[in-house]
Amino acid sequence: MFTRVLKYCPACLGEDITNNKYYSHERFMSQKGLPHSLCNECNTVFLNPAPSEDELNAFYISHHTEEAVDEIVKSGAMRVLEKGRREYFDEHRVKPLFKYIQSNAKVFDVGCGVGAFVYAMKQAGFNAMGCDLSAVSVSAGREVLKLDAGSLSQGDVYSIPNEKYELVTLWTVIEHLLEPEKYLTYIKNNHLNGNGYVLVEFPTTDIIDV
Ligand SMILES: [Zn+2]
Repeated sequence: MFTRVLKYCPACLGEDITNNKYYSHERFMSQKGLPHSLCNECNTVFLNPAPSEDELNAFYISHHTEEAVDEIVKSGAMRVLEKGRREYFDEHRVKPLFKYIQSNAKVFDVGCGVGAFVYAMKQAGFNAMGCDLSAVSVSAGREVLKLDAGSLSQGDVYSIPNEKYELVTLWTVIEHLLEPEKYLTYIKNNHLNGNGYVLVEFPTTDIIDV
């Protein structure tokens, strides 16, 4: 289905890789049977062959018809408000940041979906905002989480307002980018205050059915 064959690991550039180690199964925004390689040096699992830019765009368009995801996204936004989930967010995503940034710090969340992290950070007193490519996600976040246009905007990963932040976060976003290194350099050069941080979360193989 995809044509860009990778000879080395996209994370560590190591060449000791095992091809066809895992295959994806059917799930939301994915497709069954896509082969993944394992890097024997850093344990990164990656789609291989990977999509070209055109193939990636075509894939997202075919899997992301706004009507099809509308209900899923809206119920996802509702779950953000559930007590258990809010406590989980506070414990695992918000509180660990207290030792790195001040309570009124400016925070930007790239690819924020419905804005769950933006919402939690605002509740905790941070000056938080985010963007997401999905119009459905942005509209659900505004409607359900009451995030205004200044806090939640629609746009790709390069649509960050022309400002600098104490923290820029990418929660399971980096693996969607074709040129992750170039993107992180862009963040560092354009959107970080002198002592600012970038937080990058990677998905793990815990979510893969072997
Ligand atoms: Zn590697």
